[in-house]
Amino acid sequence: MKTTLTVFRCALIFCICLQTPLAQTLRINLDKNNSCSYAEELSDVPETEYYGYYPSDKAVKVMEEILMAASLNPSAFELKVSNVKNAVATVENGKRYILYSQQFISQVDYDAKSKWIVYSILAHEIGHHILGHNFQETNPEHRKQMELGADEFSGAILRSMCAEEADAVAAISTLKEGAYSPNYPPVSARKEMISNSWYIKDQDLKRQGRDPCGQTIGLEFGEKFGKQNLAENVRAQVKEEEMIITFDAEAIPGKFAYQSYMTSPRYSNLTPSSIEWLSDPEKPGIGRHLVWYFRKDGYTKEQVLKPQGLGIAVFEAKKVPQPVPPLGYSLGGTAVLLGTGAVIYGSQLKADALDLYNNPYAAVRDPGNDVYQGGNLSRTETYNSANKKYRNYQMYRNVGIALIGGGVALLIHKIVKHKKSKVGNLFAGDGKVKVDPGIFFK
Ligand SMILES: [Zn+2]
Repeated sequence: MKTTLTVFRCALIFCICLQTPLAQTLRINLDKNNSCSYAEELSDVPETEYYGYYPSDKAVKVMEEILMAASLNPSAFELKVSNVKNAVATVENGKRYILYSQQFISQVDYDAKSKWIVYSILAHEIGHHILGHNFQETNPEHRKQMELGADEFSGAILRSMCAEEADAVAAISTLKEGAYSPNYPPVSARKEMISNSWYIKDQDLKRQGRDPCGQTIGLEFGEKFGKQNLAENVRAQVKEEEMIITFDAEAIPGKFAYQSYMTSPRYSNLTPSSIEWLSDPEKPGIGRHLVWYFRKDGYTKEQVLKPQGLGIAVFEAKKVPQPVPPLGYSLGGTAVLLGTGAVIYGSQLKADALDLYNNPYAAVRDPGNDVYQGGNLSRTETYNSANKKYRNYQMYRNVGIALIGGGVALLIHKIVKHKKSKVGNLFAGDGKVKVDPGIFFK
């Protein structure tokens, strides 16, 4: 029975291994003339042998988003994952294909900038198919027009998808001028085309009053945390149900641990808890972003549209403002009390020492006097004893002053920390411990 099962399993695995790739694999012959590759720098197209496999759900989803933004039907071409550098549009046996690299698509999850680079390149390649471009065209001037057409499509699509103008040109800005085949116009001309189509679409959507991207606002509250907050350039798109926040945070050389938070003023009635970080909140960088589903938290669009009410803060992990619990003051306070006690005790010793000098010896200078005879201590012993007390006084005084100084410094440090933590509330969102320094002061 066991043997039969093993044979059956082997046969099953064999079938899966053998049949699945064969059923899905497409052999494509690509060259720079029968396709458009975004990495068209000649050295970037070393392969002549390309294979297309069944696409991942992620890639299909990204593609659907682009087509939805363009109100287009997905049947215009077929999507295949392949050994291309990023994305390629081509026609094979009369059928239109978009080939993409899975590693390239995965970048949509890195940060906002990488995400828009992916969308922009894919939109360009889709544009070729939507515009029905003929890759057999050999006239370089016509080919250049084709490229500009695909760029125009990409700029408009990215605006429809709520990318900012800088996001729309992020991909083209990575290309080097002058390193491409004669089928491509200068990078500068392509960049202008993308910017222009972004702008025209922007005007269209605003004029028609059907901008799907909501209102863009700046979020400034985080600035109140001062220089220790590394978040900059914080902006947000407020849609009907969610706020999409984008920000930059420059890393501190040599520091590798960071924490990002949404912030609100100390007495704010906004408590953002349904937060989804789309880039790692423990890393700094350009174009970090997150979504706050404010409707889920019970807020209306009007309530969250007050820019002074919210912000973003990124701290080096050790510099996150933390409230000081009452016990945090006990060490400094104890040091001050002990120091004061030592100084008081020391001054008592000093008084004793002076008494020894002054009474009675200082008053009776004659060594032959009775006070220096019999059971009394000798003058030298007495002075030694007085000196010892005086030295002890000095020791207690010094230790006391050091304790008071250290204690006061510690108290000031805690008070400053306290103050920083009072600036506002920090919210890390679901799945993480909510840090709320303000809670101690409400
Ligand atoms: Zn192209």
